[in-house]
Amino acid sequence: MGLKEAALYLHFPFCRAKCPYCDFYSLALVPSEELLKRYLKALQKEFLLRQEEISSYRFVTFYAGGGTPSLAPIWFYEEVFGFLKTVLDFSPREITLEANPEGLNKLVLVSFREIFNRLSLGAQSLNPEGLKALGRRHQVEEVKMAFEAARTAGFENIGLDLIFAWPGQTLKELKEELEKLVSFGPEHISCYELTLEEGTPFYQAARKGKILLPAEEDVVSMHELIHSFLVAKGYEHYEISNFARPGFRCRHNLFYWEARPYLGLGPGAASFFGKKRYKNLEDLSLYLKNLEEGKPPPREEEILSQEVRFREAVILGLRLLKGIKLESLVKRFGINPLEYYGETLEKLLKEGLLEISGENLRLTGRGRLLANVVFRELV
Ligand code: SF4
Repeated sequence: MGLKEAALYLHFPFCRAKCPYCDFYSLALVPSEELLKRYLKALQKEFLLRQEEISSYRFVTFYAGGGTPSLAPIWFYEEVFGFLKTVLDFSPREITLEANPEGLNKLVLVSFREIFNRLSLGAQSLNPEGLKALGRRHQVEEVKMAFEAARTAGFENIGLDLIFAWPGQTLKELKEELEKLVSFGPEHISCYELTLEEGTPFYQAARKGKILLPAEEDVVSMHELIHSFLVAKGYEHYEISNFARPGFRCRHNLFYWEARPYLGLGPGAASFFGKKRYKNLEDLSLYLKNLEEGKPPPREEEILSQEVRFREAVILGLRLLKGIKLESLVKRFGINPLEYYGETLEKLLKEGLLEISGENLRLTGRGRLLANVVFRELV
């Protein structure tokens, strides 16, 4: 029997400093060689402990995310890849490195290019005020330099990430940032609205009235501007926050949105295999300790019922602009979404937040702006 396709994620839990809006799991430290070697061994052990359950899968994408994976020296990834190639038939098509612009130069990028064929560069803002407001440590000029160095190093698939609706941002400033962003010519663009995540310094500051985000109607206009501007520039808007040149959609992230299997290694990483979902605890010390003692990392495990998997597949699938094929839901879960959601779905269709287009159920343009409202109804 042929192997099923899956995605492989490696979490790199270190950053030079914590950004005040970020709730991803990472420690504010540049790891020593000794710590990196310990982490590498632990990752290898975690993989070996999981090997049996993933024996029927073939990894077609690899994604080093974080944290700041570009902080790691190249030998770290050479070891990771060397190891994976000895324990399985490993030749993923898409191999992504998440990177921050600071510290990237041609020399470093040439060595990363030996392993990775896709770079996801965290520009976050192309306005000095925006970078300052977001508490980022790099300058606009560094984004440009890193992008150009990546091209010279041979990266033909580069994604740029942008955060919008930062405190004080105007529509005019967003337009200028988009113009600058597009002028670099990235293959992929992610635009995330700044959200206040509980437990972050931004969340606290907003509660105390120390930062003020743009008004709701301005944020709506920002979403509309991003869509119309990038589509007019030839980017396909394929997921709520993601745009790509034809042929450059992020294959790895499509595994998440299409509720297909993935394995995540490292503290805080999640895995999903059909009926099971795991999430390793966000604790590097415990992660290292357990694996050094030959035990699996501490994690939360969930066996998902057919119904829960169905609802999750609907919500994740609706993130994609093409939506989700109704027939495929019936085939996969034996549940007809029209019957299952009944009046709720009818209401969302009537309100113009969802539509049926051909064989697919999808969000309308207005539905995308109110996606959270729709998801709350369907969850
Ligand atoms: S660099 Fe990225 S992962 Fe690290 S704290 Fe900032 S936003 Fe979070």
